Formats: sequence, C-alpha cells, structure tokens
Amino acid sequence: MLEKLELRNSVKKSFSFPVKFLIKKIGYRVLLSLILLNSCKESNLEADNLSNNIPESKDDIGFFEKKTNPFDKYFVGEIANVKVFKDTLFLSYNEYKDTYFYSKYSNDLEVSESLEKLEKVIYLFPPKFRQIFHKKLDTIFMVKKMVKNGKELDGLYEDYVFLSDMKAFAHEVSHVIDDVLDKDDFEWAISFYGNNYREYYKKNNYGRPLGFSSAYAQRSVKEDKAETLYDLIVLHEWKMHPKDRVLQAKIKKMKEELFQIDNSFNEQYWKDLEAGKINKQYWENK
Ligand SMILES: [Zn+2]
Repeated sequence: MLEKLELRNSVKKSFSFPVKFLIKKIGYRVLLSLILLNSCKESNLEADNLSNNIPESKDDIGFFEKKTNPFDKYFVGEIANVKVFKDTLFLSYNEYKDTYFYSKYSNDLEVSESLEKLEKVIYLFPPKFRQIFHKKLDTIFMVKKMVKNGKELDGLYEDYVFLSDMKAFAHEVSHVIDDVLDKDDFEWAISFYGNNYREYYKKNNYGRPLGFSSAYAQRSVKEDKAETLYDLIVLHEWKMHPKDRVLQAKIKKMKEELFQIDNSFNEQYWKDLEAGKINKQYWENK
C-alpha cells in the first residue's frame, strides 16, 4: 500500500534536496542557478531564463525552497522519502557546467502508477539487503523525465537516487550498496579479465558487447556491476545468452556476492524470482 505522508513537521526536510545536493556539489559560495518553470519543453530551456531568483546564501535558498514547494512526499517500500516533483525543475551548476532537467508527472494517475512500479521493484530485494541500502539511501526522487546535459536518463545516483524508469532502481541499488560496503571494483573486473581489465571497458553505443549485460555496462566496472545486477533481478536477458561465458560468469559472481551480503539470495530465491513470486507479501510470509 502506498501512503502519502503529511508534510506537517517535516517542511524543512522535505525541501532538503536542493540544499543538501547543491551544497555537497558546489558549496554555498559558488553561484548556482536554480529555477522552477511551470511548464517548459526541452527546446525552450535557456540559461538566460535562470537569471531571476538566484539564491545567494543559505538563508535565501531556504526561502526559495519554501516559496516553490516542489515535492509531494510518499512512503514506499520502507523508504520514507519518496519525493515526486510537482513542478518541472531545471537546475544548472556553474562549476561543472552540468545541466539537469527534471519534469513533473502530468497527473495523479501517472504518479500512482509509478509509485506502484517502484514498490514492486523495491520488494524484489530481501529485507536484510533493503536495510543495508536504507542506511545510505533515505530519499528517492521520482520524475517523469530526467535529462543531464541533453541526455535522457532512466536513473541517477548522486547523493540521492533519481528515477524516471522505476526499474532502474535495481541498477542504482548496486551503486548504493558499493558505497555502503566500500567495495573494491577492481577485484570484480580482474576476476574476469585479469590485470589488463581496463582494455575491456570503453564508451560504447552499439548494442550489447560480448561479456556484458548491455552497451552501457561497458563504460566502467561500476556500471558493469550495476547493469549485471539490473539484468539479474529485473530484465533476465542474460538467460538468452547461455554461450556468453563471461556474462554467465558475471551473473554467477553477482549471485555469490549478493548471497554474502544477505543469505536470502539462495537457490530458492532465484527460483521464486524466475517464477515471479517475489513481492511484498512473499517477504511478510517468510
Ligand atoms: Zn550507473
């Protein structure tokens, strides 16, 4: 069940996203441009539009956030801060020259459908595992569409998790867990490719390379792990490539690593996952 949270005494917390996120990114002193546009299309986004309402101090940012009130807040899958953008938000960070664009849902039905999808994917993971990532992950931002530097994204993990495709939760979880456990990525890559593993990773925009779950997986060891987890838990496409020995070995290793974190990832779990039996009730009945 999806429960909408009251804002009551959590006003400050509910607006913490730009403050925490931006401060961590660039610090107070760096000029940041932030504006909420009631409705806009990508093509209309111009840096010039951001010249008004630029907060210059911590207090100004707080005031600005109160004025704009940009989120609805929900409780989903034990994550108390699932925030849904109420306005289309366009952020520009001058230091990195990265621009982020987040668009709001068109209506309440779209929001509730996405909340349900998010809940489904969260409960594919067992309780102990969920507790580990909750230690690090206390906020998820749910948006209809998300664009970074002109490129559309399904998910993003930068201090918080941002999702436009709820299934991408299973990818971002990998990054969160790596952060929590402080995992050594190199060991993962060396186990498949030896010490020259770097040769196997590069930017690739053309289809699934041999040994990888997707083209995106080939970008870096971290993305390789995240895409392998996503494939294993959500997509199940790895099964269509039984002769890809490296991919199969990665799936096997991912299963082993998950089992080490939480022994609920046992043979029965994988059978039940395949049978589509894993959901909220499944864990309640355990
Ligand atoms: Zn990633």
